[in-house]
Amino acid sequence: MSVLKRLSRKLASHWPLGLADFPLERSIVSFTFDDFPRSAFTQGGPILARYGARATYYASGCFCERTIDGLDYYTAQDALDAGRAGHEIAHHTFSHPHAPDHGARALLEDCARNDVFLGDLGLRPSGHFAFPYGDADLGARRLLKRRYLTCRGTQAGLNGARMDAGLLKAVSLEHRVWAPGHASNWIGQLAQRPAWLIFYTHDISDKPSLYGSTPTQLEEALDLARTAGCDILPVGEVFGRIRGTA
Ligand SMILES: [Zn+2]
Repeated sequence: MSVLKRLSRKLASHWPLGLADFPLERSIVSFTFDDFPRSAFTQGGPILARYGARATYYASGCFCERTIDGLDYYTAQDALDAGRAGHEIAHHTFSHPHAPDHGARALLEDCARNDVFLGDLGLRPSGHFAFPYGDADLGARRLLKRRYLTCRGTQAGLNGARMDAGLLKAVSLEHRVWAPGHASNWIGQLAQRPAWLIFYTHDISDKPSLYGSTPTQLEEALDLARTAGCDILPVGEVFGRIRGTA
């Protein structure tokens, strides 16, 4: 049996057939970084560490060791260091396509290529995935729901009782949407009932890209989550807790 089929079977056996409830007594916040710009770890890592927090880095092979539009992306050493620091390395395809435009076979091949690439770096990525650009249609969702334990999109919202692990909701922390009260409004909603709030952003810099955040913005969100008494955990660990396997 091929590695892909073995992996698919393994993941399929873990796949929830519908999470009717969100069996957590306290709220959880996850911090996720898409594409893995270097600064998400070199700048963001120390900030996360100050709060005893670990994050999820959704890594695409095509960005490794590259500089695009002036933005440096992760090196192999960055990814290894992040893994050793307890952060989660998760999947984001190899070539970062718009999944609905890519075709089923090409999309699966692209995902498999990323597995090989990250594995060759010495990484052991988790079974969790984020759609590039948050772009997913029903076909891609059905396809990747069978391949990954969770798939994350970019639709804003909390993951609560009606959580869809095939398209987890997430809230942008990006500079382009940041406004006073942005993070506190979302974290404040967790006081009403336990839920899972996933933040996402890209680079961390005093002069971030439109899709990144400043250190102050990241720190504010972390501080609010801690003050609210939330656990802060990578996506894979939260899912394991929900499934009772962590
Ligand atoms: Zn991306």
